[in-house]
Amino acid sequence: MNPHSLEWMIQKQIISRDIHDKALLDALLKIDRRNFVPDEWKELAYEDRPLPLSHRQTISQPYIVALMTEQLNLNASHNVLEIGTGSGYQTAILACLSRNVVSMEFVPTLYKTAKQTLAAYNLANLTLIQGDGKKGWKDQAPYDRIILTAAPTELPILIFDQLIENGILVAPIGQPGYQTLLRITKNHGNPVETPICAVRFVPLI
Ligand code: SAH
Repeated sequence: MNPHSLEWMIQKQIISRDIHDKALLDALLKIDRRNFVPDEWKELAYEDRPLPLSHRQTISQPYIVALMTEQLNLNASHNVLEIGTGSGYQTAILACLSRNVVSMEFVPTLYKTAKQTLAAYNLANLTLIQGDGKKGWKDQAPYDRIILTAAPTELPILIFDQLIENGILVAPIGQPGYQTLLRITKNHGNPVETPICAVRFVPLI
């Protein structure tokens, strides 16, 4: 296996950290992270770190993308909402593992770039929306799964309202610079939180 290759990234950063779900590993192999990284950072595309996008945003560390996806426990029947398309990398992986994905991005330039990158994958089950995701996206609600890739200081209630009973929402929640990645399920309409690990995400704008 070539060091600093896609296969190396999956082995060293994902499998060796105990993520073994076959469908997820297949998606990571199919969706090449390099295609989502800006030109000036392509040499570092398979490294164990987040990388800059424009507008002070970042493409997440590969392990964090895999961990959040694993925590969603996706299957091919799921309707999924993502807030924070960014590069579109996490979005494409979600689309490989679910029935339908709606992804929202606030920054118009990032939305446009992600749209172009994702067009190459012909993902027919994907809707990209440019706009503020804080209120979720009612048109295709309710969602079986919801993922936030930018951090609010507390759970946005309008987004949580769009999750089905027993659905799963995965989000970094906390102050800028330091958050806890939470897995939140809906139990009789109420959030039940399980902390996963400490993380550092860009804030939800
Ligand atoms: N998973 C993405 C991470 C993107 S970083 C990737 O791997 O590329 C988080 C993204 O959330 C940024 O692109 C940011 O612009 C976006 N964002 C922040 N606040 C938002 C909001 N209120 N609505 C929609 N998108 C938002």
